[in-house]
Amino acid sequence: ESKRLKNSVHIFKDTMQETYLRNVNIEQALRGGLENHELFMVYQPQISADGSFYGVEALVRWDSSILGSVPPDAFIPVAEASGQMPILGRYIIETTFADIKQIRHTLGRSFSTSINLSARQLLEPDFASYFIGKMQQENIEGRWLTLEITESLLIEDIPSVLPLLHTLKSYGVQLSMDDFGTGYSSLSMLRMLPIDELKIDKSFIDAALTDKSAQQMAQSIVTIGKNLEMDVIAEGIETQEQLEMLTRFGCDRFQGYYFARPLDKEDLAHFVKEKLSL
Ligand code: C2E
Ligand code: CA
Ligand code: CA
Ligand code: CA
Repeated sequence: ESKRLKNSVHIFKDTMQETYLRNVNIEQALRGGLENHELFMVYQPQISADGSFYGVEALVRWDSSILGSVPPDAFIPVAEASGQMPILGRYIIETTFADIKQIRHTLGRSFSTSINLSARQLLEPDFASYFIGKMQQENIEGRWLTLEITESLLIEDIPSVLPLLHTLKSYGVQLSMDDFGTGYSSLSMLRMLPIDELKIDKSFIDAALTDKSAQQMAQSIVTIGKNLEMDVIAEGIETQEQLEMLTRFGCDRFQGYYFARPLDKEDLAHFVKEKLSL
């Protein structure tokens, strides 16, 4: 193994080599990290247009004993490439279910939780039965769960994914199209899919105040969502101006640092309690 690494030094250019070595490190550290429970979930609140608490998006975090804090953008692709995604994906789902049960108990009420699915997870042959089995085991109704999927994931293999999406929907699970507008999906494809929510990508929100075309994209996405009877949520809301603009466009929900950063489960319970007491 180390011999292969040394040889590769001569082949790769500096940056490629660094990326390669870093990914090898991440791959190895992740194996230990999963065993040692170094990964945990944080929850970013989602706020309805009327200002009330709607629910959360679950986001994974990793404080590695070897590498320090590693962002999900860095280790999710490595987990996929190295075949660790089935284990990581289940770890994420099971940790999230355990956390939301606890928070639900503290708050005395249920709330919506969105879980991100990586490209490979939906293609695991037993994903639907696994997910539905866990839901039932943990006593969480489908209507309180949303799965966030990306356009590229669906484009890869619509015929095999479609029955699975319908199975999940028959148990009440909600489906959200994440990062909408950045991929390659056609509108006709969108119409065929049992999607409940469109999530406007942060890049449009970032640019909406200064860039007319980004603004028009954001507005068009809301219109598309409404026409297809989907809810629309805007992510990455950081300022009141962005919130006002997206509210004007008719967005149903909002998420972003303007309201709250992703919170650990204790802080989330505090956030919601305060919000509910307003
Ligand atoms: P995403 O699904 O688009 O998640 C939104 C990202 O934007 C999160 O970054 C969130 O912390 C960040 N964010 C939210 N509001 C704001 C804001 O107002 N300003 C800014 N600058 N950022 C904001 P995070 O947690 O680092 O996650 C990055 C990506 O990693 C996610 O993008 C998602 O693709 C992936 N990811 C994170 N957690 C999971 C997971 O549990 N499973 C899977 N499969 N992917 C995950
Ligand atoms: Ca997401
Ligand atoms: Ca997103
Ligand atoms: Ca994004």
